Amino acid sequence: MRILPVLAAATLSSTLIAAPASASTPVLGPTAYGYGGGIATVDATATAAGLDVLRHGGNAVDAAVAAAATLGVTEPFVAGPASGGFFVYYDAKRHTVSTIDGRETGPATMTPTYFIDPADGLPYDFQEARVSGLSTGVPGALAMWDDALRQWGTRRLPGLLRDAAAVADRGFVVDAQFRQQITDNLAAFGQFDSTKALYLPGGAPPALGTIQRNPDLAATYRQIARQGIGAFYRGPIGADLVKTVQHPPVSSNPVGTWAYPIRPGVLTMDDLAAYRVRRPAPTVSDFRGLKVYGMSTPSSGGTAVSEALNILEKVDPSPADVTQVLHTYLEASALAFADRGRYVGAYTPNEVLKKLASDRWAAQRACQISPAKAMAKPVGPGDINASGCTPAPATATPDNGLSTTNMTVTDRWGNVVEWTFTLEQFGGNGMVVPGRGFMLNNELTDFNFTPTQGAFPDPNLPGPGKRPRSSMSPTIVLKQGKPFLALGSPGGASIITTVLQILLNRVVLGMPLPDAMAAPRASQRNTAGIQAEPAFHTQYGPALTDLGHTFGPDMAELGAATAMEFTRHGGIIASAEPVRRGGGAAGVVHPSR
Ligand code: GLU
Repeated sequence: MRILPVLAAATLSSTLIAAPASASTPVLGPTAYGYGGGIATVDATATAAGLDVLRHGGNAVDAAVAAAATLGVTEPFVAGPASGGFFVYYDAKRHTVSTIDGRETGPATMTPTYFIDPADGLPYDFQEARVSGLSTGVPGALAMWDDALRQWGTRRLPGLLRDAAAVADRGFVVDAQFRQQITDNLAAFGQFDSTKALYLPGGAPPALGTIQRNPDLAATYRQIARQGIGAFYRGPIGADLVKTVQHPPVSSNPVGTWAYPIRPGVLTMDDLAAYRVRRPAPTVSDFRGLKVYGMSTPSSGGTAVSEALNILEKVDPSPADVTQVLHTYLEASALAFADRGRYVGAYTPNEVLKKLASDRWAAQRACQISPAKAMAKPVGPGDINASGCTPAPATATPDNGLSTTNMTVTDRWGNVVEWTFTLEQFGGNGMVVPGRGFMLNNELTDFNFTPTQGAFPDPNLPGPGKRPRSSMSPTIVLKQGKPFLALGSPGGASIITTVLQILLNRVVLGMPLPDAMAAPRASQRNTAGIQAEPAFHTQYGPALTDLGHTFGPDMAELGAATAMEFTRHGGIIASAEPVRRGGGAAGVVHPSR
């Protein structure tokens, strides 16, 4: 969470958690109660930008794009013009849920062996693939911002970009999170002159408390404001992006040592020009009388969340027995991950997706869960062509990153935006496009580099113009046709389990939303050990170990979620993390406490 002396604290409506550092510093807490619209993001400046739009008559989509463009400035290692993501939207007037797929696409020349080193026939190491031109896909961010505004917004992109450009010019205060993200990536960032110039002043991460400005990004935003997104997809900004991919700006005077050659990529201007957002129907399933809407392929989030919830519903552990609830959650997510690995990729047929999200499939899978003993992991996927309890041989599914960002927004009319976007790893492929001020994504490393499913086809191998499988899980839950909850999180594949666990905490265990967000997390993604936050391990580890679960490795943090609950009479609870990733920022237009 960063705070910025941009807006007077008095103009913001939020829960104050600390005295403002100065009269001009907005301080937004992790939870805000009230009505008339609200927003939760990881970052106070972005939340303030969205709230400002809501307060001046903008709707949830306007506010969301304002916040996203601002996050491109203040969270430049997860967001910005070269990111991609998934947008889920509840339209209050039409009572419909729609989505935008703004995921990156691979180059037209991409083949299944794209990440295989021709010199030795072996897959590249992850970091070698990441910090290269090969990992960058055509970004969906700007097309997604533009599409969302054109479909549902009342503001246009140029004005919102100009506001974000002003933030980039003014700058923000470097906090511990920001500095740490640079420190963690020192060797990768240190290989490129353009990245060094922006984020390693004098060869080291910027000092805490200094002001981080980005005039190149301000100029990029203003150029797009003037010329439209064609300046990016078919114009000079895209040309600079392609040049960076094809000729990485490798420094002759690097900071730190990088263990790998830095390989150029093959993305072209034609690839950029061919980019289109998609508008797939959301996934939908029933859970305890609620309708759960999520993101369809190329994200696996919607089907995996639906499948695990359906299995939980089938087993139906008593809420009074927290150990059984958690045991069932862990087993259900292991099964859902096995099926995700076997069946879900960009081109999974609709009938398969529907089957995975169905109650019948949940029954076929839930039959393997015993209340007395955890299954040995990894578990096999189910046989999609069979009926009955028929697991296939188990295969491991590789994992992905830990970065990304999420926001939740609503407006006075009751529209809801749930949106997750990312560069994949913190700092993407490590390259700032020279003169343009934004970083490139490494989203294509979300493909499997080699087949993972033994004799079965792998649904997530690279292919021409293909979008890599994601775990992003922006989710909107309706109760009797009206919004009840909206939530999402970063965290690579653990996004799915974080979303599941917050839903479990709120809906099954009955925790108030802020507690459901704050509760310690654990993630079982069909691996031998459960990844758990230390507090979860301490609190529930002994009882779950008795049931045969194995823990390890522990993770300091899982996820950095945002969420919203819609209460009676138009009330909202906007909720961000109290602690994880430095704490998030929630605000509402009219606070009620
Ligand atoms: N690239 C990942 C995905 O799409 C997200 C990365 C992360 O959250 O760290 O699933």
